[in-house]
Amino acid sequence: MTHEDVLKAAGFGAAELRGGTLAVRSPIDGAEVARIRETEAAEMPAIIARAQQAFRAWRAVPAPRRGELVRLLGEELRAAKDELGALVTLEAGKITSEGLGEVQEMIDICDFATGLSRQLYGYTIASERPGHRMAETWHPIGPVGIISAFNFPVAVWSWNAAMALVCGNPIIWKPSEKTPLTAMACLKILDRALARFGDAPEGLAQLVIGGPEIGAALVDSRDVPVVSATGSTRMGAQVGPKVAARFGRPILELGGNNAMIVAPSADLDMAVRAIVFSAVGTAGQRCTSLRRLIVHDSIRTDLVAKLRAAYASLPVGDPRAPGTLVGPLVDEAALDAMQAALAQARSEGGTVHGGAVAAGVAGGAYAAPALVEMPAQSAIVKTETFAPILYVVGYETLDEAIALQNDVPQGLSSCIFTLNMREAETFLSATGSDCGIANVNIGPSGAEIGGAFGGEKETGGGRESGSDAWKGYMRRQTSTVNFSAELPLAQGVKFDL
Ligand code: NAD
Repeated sequence: MTHEDVLKAAGFGAAELRGGTLAVRSPIDGAEVARIRETEAAEMPAIIARAQQAFRAWRAVPAPRRGELVRLLGEELRAAKDELGALVTLEAGKITSEGLGEVQEMIDICDFATGLSRQLYGYTIASERPGHRMAETWHPIGPVGIISAFNFPVAVWSWNAAMALVCGNPIIWKPSEKTPLTAMACLKILDRALARFGDAPEGLAQLVIGGPEIGAALVDSRDVPVVSATGSTRMGAQVGPKVAARFGRPILELGGNNAMIVAPSADLDMAVRAIVFSAVGTAGQRCTSLRRLIVHDSIRTDLVAKLRAAYASLPVGDPRAPGTLVGPLVDEAALDAMQAALAQARSEGGTVHGGAVAAGVAGGAYAAPALVEMPAQSAIVKTETFAPILYVVGYETLDEAIALQNDVPQGLSSCIFTLNMREAETFLSATGSDCGIANVNIGPSGAEIGGAFGGEKETGGGRESGSDAWKGYMRRQTSTVNFSAELPLAQGVKFDL
């Protein structure tokens, strides 16, 4: 299919794609596929006011009814899966299967959130006072600003949108300026769900297009109580303090520097498959991509040889072609950053295997994934380079391996390959991995939506998606009801008139 075919199938008319100021390029071949209109900063106050207006109506809609909208969104996404998946491939450069997988993730979160809409449970709490009842209730909080990154152009929105909507909140989405078309397509799909739903308030779900300055309008507004921001640690360092300074609630999902420890007892064949998928899948452009391999010295030579053999046969190229496993980087700047990181790794004593610029499709930024043997966990190894670079360092004791795993500024995802129960449990214990995600015998990437997703330290501390992450999108109210004829005070305090 040509780019035009993909855009047409996703419901775009020619007029929407021309006449604007934001050039959209496909990483597949660098071609400009659209030039779309950007939201102006002057429009933002009215957009936020519309969301506040929608909030006043939506918060009063019973949560299971709100869940019905998200159920319909899931249905519409099922119907549009192929078209939206192809658009993700066009705009983010993901291989076909990963583009479709991203849409499946959206469907999964809709199912999860629909069920959740009947389970926004609070506690009942034993009161110390006779004739009193205490309870905790979760209420809608207000418009949720969603700032998302290019590499999961649609799934991250759906995590936040599905959750915010069932929790009773309108949403305003600012996607990456590199992937506005997938965002526009999502809003078209949501519009179909809204039409079937019937009576949702106008302004419930809005899209704003532009760069950081448009995101800043959400970050700075007191009328946007929650800002969920996904992207680089650099972005989070700007956004987080600003939201906190106005007593808003930031949900930060930032950079990772994810490691795998490979212990002597590991099933090496399984480890190799997990390593290759998590290090080179999505061309190393997942927040959970595997970036550091911490290998026991006794198996290091053997494992590196196996990986070099696997890397040598990796099909790099057009992400739409069957058989391709490594598509393009998002743009030339990403390719430059990769090459600069490899040069730094060499200067820090590393031996680089692979990593050369690859042919791919003319106009795209393609590279062979790199495996880099490092003498130590030096500065470049502690830096997230958003590209398929896997650094390998050795260890002798598990304590040393865990110390290396934790000795980076980021704290997103981690894993250990071992058949030794003591090692596995130690890795998962309080003295083990310091990351938000810690796995045993699977790689660090490819999380399911049922678990809370996010990480510690410079990854930002936010949690989204499964478990009780929904609580981040609601306000908590503790209520005490006195059904006695007395007025006892807590802690035995006497204050008799
Ligand atoms: P980026 O930080 O360049 O941009 C992310 C988004 O933030 C964009 O929409 C951008 O316009 C916006 N933005 C940037 N500065 C801003 C500011 N000052 N105010 C308001 N908005 C601002 O990130 P990217 O290159 O699109 O994505 C790659 C990064 O995202 C990697 O570091 C990756 O690890 C991270 N990421 C993290 C997760 C996670 O869940 N932890 C998921 C996906 C990506």
